[in-house]
Amino acid sequence: MFVTGLRCFRCGSTFPAEPESYLCPSCGLGTEGDPGILDVQYDYGGAGPALLAGGRVRSDRQDLFRYLPLLPVAAAGSVLPTGWTPMVPAPRLAARLGLKALYLKDDTRNPTRSLKDRATAVGVTRALALGKRAVYCASAGNAAISLAGFSAHAGLECHVYVPSYASETRLSWLRGYGARVRVSSGNYDQAFEESEQEGAAHGWYSRNCAFNPYLVEGKKTAALEIAEQLGWQVPDLVIAPVGDGCTLGGIGKGFREVRLLGLTDRLPRLVGVQAEAVQPLVRRFAGAGSNSGGTDGETRAASIAVQRPRNALRLLAELRESSGLMLALPDSDIAAAQRLLAEAAGVVAEFTSAATLAGLLRLAEQESLAGKTAVLTITGGRPDNP
Ligand SMILES: *Cc1c(COP(=O)(O)O)cnc(C)c1O
Ligand SMILES: [Zn+2]
Repeated sequence: MFVTGLRCFRCGSTFPAEPESYLCPSCGLGTEGDPGILDVQYDYGGAGPALLAGGRVRSDRQDLFRYLPLLPVAAAGSVLPTGWTPMVPAPRLAARLGLKALYLKDDTRNPTRSLKDRATAVGVTRALALGKRAVYCASAGNAAISLAGFSAHAGLECHVYVPSYASETRLSWLRGYGARVRVSSGNYDQAFEESEQEGAAHGWYSRNCAFNPYLVEGKKTAALEIAEQLGWQVPDLVIAPVGDGCTLGGIGKGFREVRLLGLTDRLPRLVGVQAEAVQPLVRRFAGAGSNSGGTDGETRAASIAVQRPRNALRLLAELRESSGLMLALPDSDIAAAQRLLAEAAGVVAEFTSAATLAGLLRLAEQESLAGKTAVLTITGGRPDNP
């Protein structure tokens, strides 16, 4: 492994990479709302030559362990095959928007049909290496379904904490995988706290990506793949839906790493999208206040309806670094974009993931996209979600 340590996003201190380090020991949950989340540090001088030979990736694996030297695991795990998902060209949508090219990074092709499988693949690999028998997470849907599926495959006991509004369909998927389901009386944020209390008390392995720093490393592989699949040509824009901020924050890290290794020479502009009804990170990016949450309404974009985002510091740093931006879209725009993705690109995305196209359409009203290349991260494809 080329991991050298963990660095706190709040106070900047670095720590040894203990197997179950989650938050910064001095910042903890934080006083003004931002927890002391940690970032995994690598020896890139060692990882680069291990990853590459003559500017090409050495591994011929067609899953995320292709990038093993940039992951916090010593060896590929015996987990469901994850990653190396296709970049689906969408020429009809590109023409409509005046783009040079538009690609859909189709992460609905993962084993449980969402990008969450990337984090789960790394988490379950680590849990198995540590000899853990049980794992847990809190989730509005996809993370729990992902952990349940990977646990069924690996023979781990799986505990999931879901919000009160989790649909019957999702509960039945979870039970179908044999997971032990706790339905919270509150929202995702409450389910998250309940999971942290019980999970820590029992010594189960955490698949809460917002706190367990090793999991974001799995999510960053989406960016490593995008860069490699485009022949190390960097797209102008990469758009993803934002809940806790781990997905787009991880994608930003991946693009910085391939630049650091000399494979690319610039960064894409990161564009984060949220639903108008729950948009704490749009407000925060615009300079309105800290992580205090909001007086928000209802949205069908359940996978990103996070009132108190726990990876805000990571995401904001990546947005600054890439001259990125955040956009809020009404559910009506997202619904139209969901239909358009199917009609004009042949890709069925869950409601939340269609917010990426809604964001691109909004951006096209604000600035010219002529000659640009854009990538939409299609993070999930469960038909009922929600
Ligand atoms: C979890 C999820 C997201 C957001 O990821 P965060 O890491 O919470 O920002 C986006 N889309 C889908 C489909 C998801 O399941
Ligand atoms: Zn700290």
